[in-house]
Amino acid sequence: MLIILLGAPGAGKGTIARMLVEKFGIVQISTGDMLRQAVNEGTPVGKKALEFMNSGKLVPDDVIMALIEERIAQPDCAQGFIFDGFPRTIPQAHALESLLTKKNMTVNAIINLEVPEEVVLKRLTSRRTCSNPHCQAIYNIYTMPPKKEGICDKCGSSLIQRDDETEEAIKVRLETYYEKTQPLIDYYCKHKAYFAVSSLDAHETFNAIVKRLQK
Ligand code: AMP
Repeated sequence: MLIILLGAPGAGKGTIARMLVEKFGIVQISTGDMLRQAVNEGTPVGKKALEFMNSGKLVPDDVIMALIEERIAQPDCAQGFIFDGFPRTIPQAHALESLLTKKNMTVNAIINLEVPEEVVLKRLTSRRTCSNPHCQAIYNIYTMPPKKEGICDKCGSSLIQRDDETEEAIKVRLETYYEKTQPLIDYYCKHKAYFAVSSLDAHETFNAIVKRLQK
């Protein structure tokens, strides 16, 4: 199974992707998580990406495509995968199409998570992320707080507010989304695998997606 999750920053792509991973036993491919790991490990990709990420801008398409091509060739992707935060630009969507054609793969679902902007803003500023690069669990101080304040329920590491989740960076990320990523909705909406779901409550959104996928 191959799924593409679309939606603004804070639309819930990470949360929904993790729920789908559990349900279908496939792999989550989050370019954001991969880049943050590269930054933490100080790799050449991480060094290149850091400035773009901290200012809320997109990392260049060629860097992203190299990451994706390498990732989907790994054995754990054989059962399928969910792209979370990729593609983010029209050139990335074109490059993905060529890559999938080359690999004889087809997309089963392209899901657009729809959320009003004021909800996105509140979600992003109240989000906390596990600092452990191998965990990266997501919490929300209002709607999904950890059992112990500031500590990850899953691995016990400290929770942090990401550098790109300051009000300033969030503003740039949303502008970037409208300019570069939202055009993907027009690009994909005629695809037979495309559908949109409201993403206000994670469980309701997840159930709606599963129902649609099992049709
Ligand atoms: P995310 O966690 O998906 O919001 O990603 C965090 C940051 O990583 C974004 O603001 C971008 O700087 C960068 N990033 C993640 N995925 C992509 C992508 N597909 N294309 C370009 N930049 C990306």
